[in-house]
Amino acid sequence: EKTVVLITGCSSGIGLGLAVRLASDSSQRFKVFATMRDLAKKERLLECVRGCHRDTLEILQLDVTNPASLASAIQRVPEQRVDVLVCNAGVGLMGPLETCSQEAIKAVFDVNLFGTINTIQAFLPGMKCRKAGKIIITSSVGALQGVPFNAVYCASKFAVEGLCESLAIVLQEFNIHITLIECGPVNTSFLSNMQSMDPEGHELQGLDPKTYALYRQYSQHCQSLFQDAAQDTDEVLQVFLDAICTPNPPLRCFTTQFFMPLTRLKLLSPDGSEYVQAMHKFVFSTSEPQGDQA
Ligand code: NAD
Repeated sequence: EKTVVLITGCSSGIGLGLAVRLASDSSQRFKVFATMRDLAKKERLLECVRGCHRDTLEILQLDVTNPASLASAIQRVPEQRVDVLVCNAGVGLMGPLETCSQEAIKAVFDVNLFGTINTIQAFLPGMKCRKAGKIIITSSVGALQGVPFNAVYCASKFAVEGLCESLAIVLQEFNIHITLIECGPVNTSFLSNMQSMDPEGHELQGLDPKTYALYRQYSQHCQSLFQDAAQDTDEVLQVFLDAICTPNPPLRCFTTQFFMPLTRLKLLSPDGSEYVQAMHKFVFSTSEPQGDQA
């Protein structure tokens, strides 16, 4: 019998890649329900899976912020049985906090936090009833440590960490494994899809000059970090695959060791001061990135 996998946010990036990878598995081990908010965007996915077996992929509409859309997606799955739920849909927001609109902030929390909660809530009763299941979350280095000018994104992703770590404790009793895949920068359209303040744009007019200068510096750092350190989607997908295929995946899997020294500083120095210093140095000292040696 095939493992049924439902993935959110499959019109691009990691979600699309994972759907294609699983649907084209040579042993046809998976039945993939690739879901996306806007079915008009399904062409790319269809293009990528051309030639793969028809009975391994189905595309469904699912907007994680819309409970009615979630309810109708779940009805389309035979017996509502999902063995592996991949909560992948997510959006970014980058800019000085004081320039982020309430609307933009709410939109980030609606997708990243409430969307994830809604999706888990929809599938959890079935998994509990069957005493089996895996919930995989596309998480981020920005879910574990603060990143300058990403305060809202990090806040939403930190919240998801708290959600999942809390759930994991009880879900052990039901043979349900919850796993956060901690991604660093990945070469997807995430950066271009996200709402970010253009340093040259009008949103930043009226911002104090010091914040403005720091934000420009951060924008450059971010671009070069993506150029130098971003992982290819395939590399990241392997970590998802491992978590899906191993019987007892841990709560967190890291796709890269690059940020580990910074991540460890948080634990080594619980008062936070060392992390704050080190991250400041990493982003704002003009020399080469020091993530590896921090
Ligand atoms: P992406 O922008 O290509 O993919 C995000 C997907 O989520 C898109 O297909 C988008 O349409 C979908 N989405 C947005 N709102 C939705 C909604 N309401 N309902 C359903 N789908 C919705 O970028 P990606 O890099 O593939 O991002 C996937 C996940 O990876 C996100 O959760 C993101 O936070 C996380 N992540 C990405 C990076 C990176 O550098 N690319 C790093 C760490 C974590």
